[in-house]
Amino acid sequence: MEKVKKTDEEWRQQLTPEQYHVARQKGTEPAFTGKYWDNHEDGTYRCACCGAELFDSKTKFESGTGWPSFSAPVDGNSVRTETDTSHGMRRVEALCAQCDAHLGHVFPDGPQPTGSRFCMNSASLDFKKKE
Ligand code: FE
Repeated sequence: MEKVKKTDEEWRQQLTPEQYHVARQKGTEPAFTGKYWDNHEDGTYRCACCGAELFDSKTKFESGTGWPSFSAPVDGNSVRTETDTSHGMRRVEALCAQCDAHLGHVFPDGPQPTGSRFCMNSASLDFKKKE
């Protein structure tokens, strides 16, 4: 995979202030405020920064958290994870494998068969409705 690399200033110019804060500065949008937590349409969720396909609506489920939640990424290479020890917690951070955008966190309390809950920020995603 070809990595997408841009300077901080380039990202700042390309993204909205909220997208920049969440995706490039590891921010978190307040629960129940993003545009996708309650989106039920069929389609794919792409990276808001580089356009890489990250999640399919088929894996989206009702987590009750106020953030769009998925049981798995579209494939094993699209999303990478890192240990995140910020804010006094030990969590698994999810990032776009292509451009390193911060997407959210992964928790081990999702539905079967994966058992994973990819708790994402709407601000890091760009939904494309299925034609
Ligand atoms: Fe990306």
